[in-house]
Amino acid sequence: MSEPYAIKMPQLSDTMTEGVIVTWEKEIGAEIKRGDIVATVETDKAIMDVEVFRDGFLSGPMEAVDSTVLVGGAIAYIVVSAAEVSQDAVANTSDTESGSDSNTQTDSAVAVAQQQTEVPVVEVVAESEQAISPEGVVTMVKMPQLSDTMTEGVVVGWKKSPGDKIERGDIVAEVETDKAVMDVEVFKEGYLSGPIAEIDSVVPVGGLMAYIVKSADQVITDILKASASTASVAPAAAVSSASMTSSFSPASASQPANRPSGKKATPYARKVAGLNDVDLNAIQGTGPNGAITASDVRNVEGSRATMRGMVEAPVPGDGRKMSAMEKAVSHSMTSSLTMPTFNVTVNAKPGAMLKAAKASGVSVTVAIAKACALAIVKHPSINWAYQPTDKIIERNNVDIGMAVAADGGGLVVPILRGCEHNDLETLNNSWKDLVGRARTRRLKPDEYAHPTFVVSNMGMLGVSYFDAIPTPGTAAILAISSAGSEGMPLTITADHRVANGAEVAMFLNTLKEKIEQPEDWIGPVGPAIPAGTWDYDVVVIGAGPGGEDCARDLTAHGLKVAMISDAPFPGGECLWRGCIPSKAWRAAADRIRDRAHDKHLGVTGTTKPVLDWSLLEKTRRNILETRGEMALKTDKGVKIKFIQGFASFVDDHTVFVDQSNLEKDRHQRPVPGDGKKGEQISFGCAVIATGAPPFVPPIEGAHNAMGSGAVLTSDTVWTLKEAPKRLGVIGGGAIGLEMAQIFQDFGSKVTLLEGQDRILAEVETEIATHLTKYLNEEPRLTIITSAMVKSIKGEPGNVKVSYQDADGKGRSFTCDAVIFATGKRPILEPLALDKAGVNSDKGIITASNRCRTSKAHIFAVGDVIGGLMLAHTAGQQGRVAAATILGEDFAYNQDKDCGVIFTRPQAGFVGLSVEQAKAKGIDAAEIKMPMSIDAKAMITNETQGMIKIVADKQTQRVIGVHFLTDHADTLIGEGVMMVSAGMTLEQVAQAIHPHPTQTEMFGEMARRLLSRLRRTQKAKR
Ligand SMILES: Cc1cc2nc3c(=O)[nH]c(=O)nc-3n(C[C@H](O)[C@H](O)[C@H](O)COP(=O)(O)OP(=O)(O)OC[C@H]3O[C@@H](n4cnc5c(N)ncnc54)[C@H](O)[C@@H]3O)c2cc1C
Repeated sequence: MSEPYAIKMPQLSDTMTEGVIVTWEKEIGAEIKRGDIVATVETDKAIMDVEVFRDGFLSGPMEAVDSTVLVGGAIAYIVVSAAEVSQDAVANTSDTESGSDSNTQTDSAVAVAQQQTEVPVVEVVAESEQAISPEGVVTMVKMPQLSDTMTEGVVVGWKKSPGDKIERGDIVAEVETDKAVMDVEVFKEGYLSGPIAEIDSVVPVGGLMAYIVKSADQVITDILKASASTASVAPAAAVSSASMTSSFSPASASQPANRPSGKKATPYARKVAGLNDVDLNAIQGTGPNGAITASDVRNVEGSRATMRGMVEAPVPGDGRKMSAMEKAVSHSMTSSLTMPTFNVTVNAKPGAMLKAAKASGVSVTVAIAKACALAIVKHPSINWAYQPTDKIIERNNVDIGMAVAADGGGLVVPILRGCEHNDLETLNNSWKDLVGRARTRRLKPDEYAHPTFVVSNMGMLGVSYFDAIPTPGTAAILAISSAGSEGMPLTITADHRVANGAEVAMFLNTLKEKIEQPEDWIGPVGPAIPAGTWDYDVVVIGAGPGGEDCARDLTAHGLKVAMISDAPFPGGECLWRGCIPSKAWRAAADRIRDRAHDKHLGVTGTTKPVLDWSLLEKTRRNILETRGEMALKTDKGVKIKFIQGFASFVDDHTVFVDQSNLEKDRHQRPVPGDGKKGEQISFGCAVIATGAPPFVPPIEGAHNAMGSGAVLTSDTVWTLKEAPKRLGVIGGGAIGLEMAQIFQDFGSKVTLLEGQDRILAEVETEIATHLTKYLNEEPRLTIITSAMVKSIKGEPGNVKVSYQDADGKGRSFTCDAVIFATGKRPILEPLALDKAGVNSDKGIITASNRCRTSKAHIFAVGDVIGGLMLAHTAGQQGRVAAATILGEDFAYNQDKDCGVIFTRPQAGFVGLSVEQAKAKGIDAAEIKMPMSIDAKAMITNETQGMIKIVADKQTQRVIGVHFLTDHADTLIGEGVMMVSAGMTLEQVAQAIHPHPTQTEMFGEMARRLLSRLRRTQKAKR
C-alpha cells in the first residue's frame, strides 16, 4: 500500500496563516482527477477553491466543514485505489460551534451544496437571488478576482450569448475591475446559459455571472437583474490587505461575536468579529446566501481603524454610487492616511533630459522612470515597503507605476517593470504597449498590481507645485510639478517607517543629477551651450594638455573660444615642469646608463661618460621654449583667443581675468595678483583645466625649507645648478621614482622614503615588486618603504631628514637637498567655484565621465578632477568635454587608460590588471613572458622585466597589458590599440608581427593564452 498523499491547507495569500473549511466539493471515496476542486476554504481575504494536482481517490481522515486548519496542515488525503480509502473524519475541535441556529443554517446550506456537489458555496448567492438555475450545470461563470484589491466587478459586455457553444479557454464576457476592463475566460466546455448578469450590473468577486450547461436544450436565457447582484457588494471593499492587516488581529483564540439578527455569518467571521469587537449586524455579507465572511469583517475593521478619530460629515442630498474605480481609489487613499508621511522637494532643470530623450526617441515618462530607477539603485530604501505588522519588504526590482488618463475619464496606473535592469529601448517599447491598453482599460493584473514606486507627473498640466499620496505597498511617491525659473520641483512624499529624511534628500539629489546630466544613461543631449549672448561660446581656463586639446577641438568645430592662461605660453605643467623636462633629464641619464651595455656588444672606450649640466639644461630649456612657442603659434593659428591672466568666477556665466601680475618667466609657475587690473568675460560654457600643483604635507620644517631650496618640488627642482651629491626623495610614486633614478644615474647618492609598504601603488603588483628589486640593485639608490618622515632641518648642502622606520625606530640621514614628490593637489579657492555653483569633493572638482561638473554648462578636465593625473588623460578629457559641448557622444573610460613610468626598466600599464578585473566581477586570466627570453632584449642586454596580457575569459578580449621592460614607452602603443579597440586574443594571435622585434611577443602570448583557455574549457566539460 502506497503512502497517502496529504491535501494540505494551501497558502492562498501571502498574509494567510490559517483557513476555514467552507465546503467539501467531493465526498470521501470520490475519484479525483488532476485539477479537480475538492473543497473551498475561507482565507483571510476570500473564499477560494482547493485544487488537487494528483489522480486518485479522496480519503479521510478529513477535516470537518468549519474547522480551522493552519496553512500546511493536512485537510484530507488522496490514495491510489478505492480500496485504500479511509472513511474517517477528523473531529473539528477548534472552531465548530455546534448547536447554534445560524451555524445550522450555514451548515445546511453547505450540506445542500455538498449534496449537489457541483455547486460551490459562493454560487449559492445566485440560487438565493433568483432561485432559478438551469439543469445540467457543468460550471458556473463567476466574477473573477483580477487584482488583490478587487472585490467586485462591473459587467461591461457579453462576448457570447446564452446558447452559444463554449470551448475551453473561450472569453465569454468583459468586466471592469477597479483598475481595468478585463476578459472573463471559461475553462470548461458546454453551452452558455442564463441567468446571465445584466450589463452594467455590479457583481461581487466570486458572485454568479452565468452558467455553462452540458447541452443546448438545458440553456435558459434569463437575465440576472442588477439590483440583485449589486445588493451583495461589500462595503469598504478596496482597502488593501496590507493596510487592513495592520489594524487587525488574527482569529486564533477569541470569543465569537454574537450572531447577527436575520443574517448569516460564518464561524470564522464571528470569531474575527469577536476578537476585533465588530458588530456583525452592521455588516453586509458577500458570502453564500449573503453570509458574512471573515473578509467582510476585516474590511469593516480596516476602514474603521483608518477612520478612527475622523468624523464623516453628513452631506445632504442623494449621492450617486461611486464606480468601482472611484471606490478603489477612495479606499486606497483613505487607508494611506495611516501612513506617517513627510515631504521633501528638490528642483531640477529638465532641459538636458528632455533634449536627450528626444534625440534618442525615448518618451519623457520612460526617461523619468529610468532616472528614478537609477537613483533608487543608489538609495534602495525608497523602493521598499512597510508590511503589517512591523516588517519591511526590501526589494531590488524597481517596478514604477505611472498614471495614464483612461478614455472616458479616470486614471489608470500601469507599471513599467524592471526599470533598474531593462535598457531604455526595452522600457520604451513596454511603455508604448502598456499605455495603449491602459487608455482602453485593457491591462492584465500583473500590469497594474504591486508597483514598488509611483510617479505622478502633473508638471505637464502646468501645475506649479503639488505633492501626492503614496499608496499602501509603496514607501514613496514622486510628484513632478512644472518647471519654473528654479527648475522643476520634484517632491517625494515618503513613509517615515521605511525611509528617513536624509535618505529621501539623497535620493532626490541623485535623481536631480541624473535628470540634469543624462548623457551617461540616455546619450548625447545636443550642444551644451545655452542660448544667450556671450563674449565667447566657451572659455577654457588653463592651457595645459587638458585645456589646450579641448580648445583646439572646439575651434575646429567653429566655436568662438578664449583660452585663459596664467602663464605666458601654453603647455601647462606637462611642458614647463613635468613630462617634457623630466624626460629630457631621463634621456641624458639613459645615455649615461646605456654606456654600461656597450661592452656587452664589444664596444669599448665609452664607459666613462661625464654629464655637462649646463649643456643639458640649455637643451632642456630650449626644447621647452621651442615647444611653447610652437604651441602658441598653433593655438592662435586655429583661432583660439589666448588671454594671459588668472581667471576666477564672478557668476555661472562670467569670469574675471586678473591681469595685475602677469608672469613673464615662462619657466616659473605663475602666482595670482591682487585683482586690481583685469577684465570680465562672459561665456556660454566654461571648461576648468587648471591642473594640480605639487602638494607638500605639513611635515615639521618642510615648508620653511622650501624657501631656502633645501626642499624642492616638481615646480622648483628645475632651478638646481647641478646634480646634488646626496639627494633625499620623499614619495615612491611615479615622479619620485623617476627623479630618484635619474639623479642616481647622474651620480647622486639617493635615499628614497615611501610611507606605504610598496612603491607605485597604482601599478600592477608583480610589476611594482620586480621594479623595486631592480631599483634596489642600483649602486647609489636606496629605497626604504613604510618610512614616515617626521622632520626636515637644515640648509641646502646640509639637510637632515628624520623619519620613523617600519619597526617604529627613529632614523635620519643627511643630504644636500630633498625633493618632495608627495602628490599633487588642485588649488580651488582662487577659482571662486561657489560663485558659479560648481561642486567639489575632498579638494577635487567633481565631474562625470563626460567631464560635466555639478553645473551642467561648466566642465572640468585633467588633474583638477583627480583620478589618473597624467597628461594624456587630461588631453582625452579635454576632447571629451569638447565633444559633450558640441553635443557628441564621447565619454572618458578609465578602464582603457594607460601610463608609463619612465624608470629603467620602464613600467607601463594599459587597462586592467587581473586584480582590478576581478574587483569589477570580470573573470580574467593573464599570461606573462619574461624579457630574458627575447632575442632583441638579449642583444641589447635589456633583459629585465616582463610583459603581461590580461584577457576576459568569457569574451577572450584583451582588457589589460602590463609592462616592465626597456622600451615600454613604444611597445605600449600596441597594448593601447588592443585594449581600446577591445581586440580578441585571436585577433592579436593572428596579426603578423615583424621579425625581429619585441612586438612578436604579443602574438606569441596571445596564442599561448588562447590555447590555455581552450584546454581549460575542454577539461571543465
Ligand atoms: C615631474 C613631472 C613629470 C611628469 N611626467 C609625466 C609623464 O611622463 N606623462 C604624463 O602623462 N604625465 C606626466 N606628468 C603629469 C602631467 O604633467 C599632468 O598630468 C598634466 O600636465 C595635467 O594637465 P592639466 O591640463 O590638467 O593641467 P596643467 O598641465 O597643470 O595645466 C594647467 C594650467 O592652468 C594654469 N592655471 C591654474 N589656475 C589658473 C587660473 N585660475 N587661470 C588661468 N590659468 C590657470 C596653470 O598654471 C597651468 O599652466 C608629470 C608631472 C610632473 C610634475
